[in-house]
Amino acid sequence: MSERHFSSCRVCPRACGVDRAVRPGLCGVGAGLRVALAQLHFGEEPCLSGATTPETGEARGSGTIFFSGCSLRCVYCQNHDISMGGPISGPEGAGLGHELSVDDLTALMLELQRSGAHNVNLVTPTHFSPLVREVLLQARANGLTVPVVWNSSAYETVDTLRTLDGLVDIYLPDLRYMDAATAARYSAAPDYPDVACAAILEMHRQVGQLSIDNGIARRGLLVRLLVLPGNTGRTDLALDWIAENLGTGTAISLMGQYYPAHRASEFPEINRSLKPIEYTAVRRHMERLGFENGFVQRVGSSAAFTPNFRQGG
Ligand code: SF4
Repeated sequence: MSERHFSSCRVCPRACGVDRAVRPGLCGVGAGLRVALAQLHFGEEPCLSGATTPETGEARGSGTIFFSGCSLRCVYCQNHDISMGGPISGPEGAGLGHELSVDDLTALMLELQRSGAHNVNLVTPTHFSPLVREVLLQARANGLTVPVVWNSSAYETVDTLRTLDGLVDIYLPDLRYMDAATAARYSAAPDYPDVACAAILEMHRQVGQLSIDNGIARRGLLVRLLVLPGNTGRTDLALDWIAENLGTGTAISLMGQYYPAHRASEFPEINRSLKPIEYTAVRRHMERLGFENGFVQRVGSSAAFTPNFRQGG
C-alpha cells in the first residue's frame, strides 16, 4: 500500500512527485523506513518523560523514535546529524540510520513499552506517514496501549494527518514561523505558516486539548514554540493565532533552548544564542494573553521544562 504513496510522492507539502524507490525526495530518504535512534528520553516535557514526584511515582521516560530525514530542513536544525546526514549515514541525505521493516518497527514500539515508556514518541515521522500508519495499526493489534505521540514540525498536509485519525493520541507540533519570508529564509518553505496552521487545526480537531492524568499526558495537543534570537520567528504572533483559533486553554511548551547549529552561521541574525530578555518578553506576552496550561524552559537548557500554568506535568 505504501509503495503507492511513495511512487510519486506527495506525502508532505513539498509534493516532490519523485519515486522514492528510485531516488530520495527533498526529505532525503527513500521508500524504506529509516530510524536513526530509539531510546527512553528523560528530557521531554514532564508530562511526556514523567517526573519523579509522589503523584507520578518514577519518571520512566518517553519512548522516542527518531526517524531519519526531514521534509522541513531548517538551517538551524539542532538534530541535523539525524535529519540531514551524519555519523551513521555516509553522504548527506543519502540514507542515514537503520532501515527497518514494518514488523521491526512494530517490535521496537512494543519493546519501548515493555521498558516502561510512558508513551511512544515518534520524532519527525511525517515523510514516512503511510508506513507509520501501518506500523501503528499492527502495534495496536499486538498490544501497544501507551499513548502515541506525533512529534512533528507541523509541515504536513491535512490529507496525510487525516489518515492518522484515531491512531495518534497526542500531537506535539512545532509552530515555527508566522510569515512567509522568514519561513522561506530559514526553511525554504514560504507556505509554512498556512500549512502549519491548517495542520494544527486538524490535529486539534482529532484530539482536542491536552489532558493530563497523574502528571502524564494521555491525549490532546501540546504546541511547541521555539523562540529564535531576536524573536525572528515571531513567536508572539504564533501565540496570538493560537489564542484566537484554539483558545488560551491550549497547552504550550515555550522553548528557550535555541543555540546556533548546522548552517546558522550563514545567517548573522540567528548566529548567536537566545538572550534571556528575549525569552522573557515572549513569555510575558503569553501570560498577558492568558494561556493556562503548559511548560516554560530555562534559556539555553535543553532539558529543564517547568510546569508553568494551572495544569502542568
Ligand atoms: S515526503 Fe519527501 S519525497 Fe515525499 S513529498 Fe515530502 S519531501 Fe518529497
